[in-house]
Amino acid sequence: METANPEKKHLSATQISMFLRCPRQFYYRYIEGKKRPPTGAMMQSKVWHKTVEQNYRQKTTSEKDLPLNDMREFFAEEYDQTLKTEEIAFESNEDPGELKDEGVAITTAHHALIAPKVRPLLVEEKFVISLGDDFPYDLVGVWDLVDKDGVIADNKAYGKTPNQADVDKDIQLSIYSLGYRVSQGRIEKGLRLDAVIKNLRPKPVQIFTTRTNENGRFILDLIEHVAKAMQSGIFYPNPNGWHCSPARCGYWSQCMGKGKAT
Ligand code: SF4
Repeated sequence: METANPEKKHLSATQISMFLRCPRQFYYRYIEGKKRPPTGAMMQSKVWHKTVEQNYRQKTTSEKDLPLNDMREFFAEEYDQTLKTEEIAFESNEDPGELKDEGVAITTAHHALIAPKVRPLLVEEKFVISLGDDFPYDLVGVWDLVDKDGVIADNKAYGKTPNQADVDKDIQLSIYSLGYRVSQGRIEKGLRLDAVIKNLRPKPVQIFTTRTNENGRFILDLIEHVAKAMQSGIFYPNPNGWHCSPARCGYWSQCMGKGKAT
């Protein structure tokens, strides 16, 4: 596969997943460029990612985790700062103070049981790969973490424990694997979700998975078909599913809710 071309548009796992969920939503976000403010949960996740990144970046050389109190303080300060400087679309059931406390608890759980096992090599590292001269997009992504043992890991906080079967076919992890093989010229040792489940007492879990060459061919085929569909200019709505509601879709008022009081 050729080197990435700076002239080409980029395609990411996030864009592909949104297109598969609802092409009309993709149209509003990426063709019309209408960005919607994040929900409270999204903002909490972004701040937690920054907190974990802060620890792992220094750990690439120090090989030690930051003290727990530093991490908790970092989360709390970043959270307050983000609240002051960014527009956040809190959902009706979201309380900013509760989300902050929950974020500190997630940080604590991750620091106790996941971080000590991690030996970071690459942290928040971006990849851009070409899928061929005649393919209209370069594929892009950011690995949250590549461990020194060659495992690619994604940091996530979930409402409930993800199902192994879903992790085994997850598009984002498949794209991380493809990006690694093409850009690093070798096969990753495995893939892992470093997840914290947001119970009353957050529970850390690590879920392992792998990708075969056949999985690689499947994801390439999927990307090719999605790209063709995007280029056809047909962006139909898909109202079936959890994603289509006034709370979940930032484009509800101009799509499903058109002409209705929402
Ligand atoms: S309101 Fe529903 S159908 Fe319309 S863009 Fe949003 S998710 Fe898609």
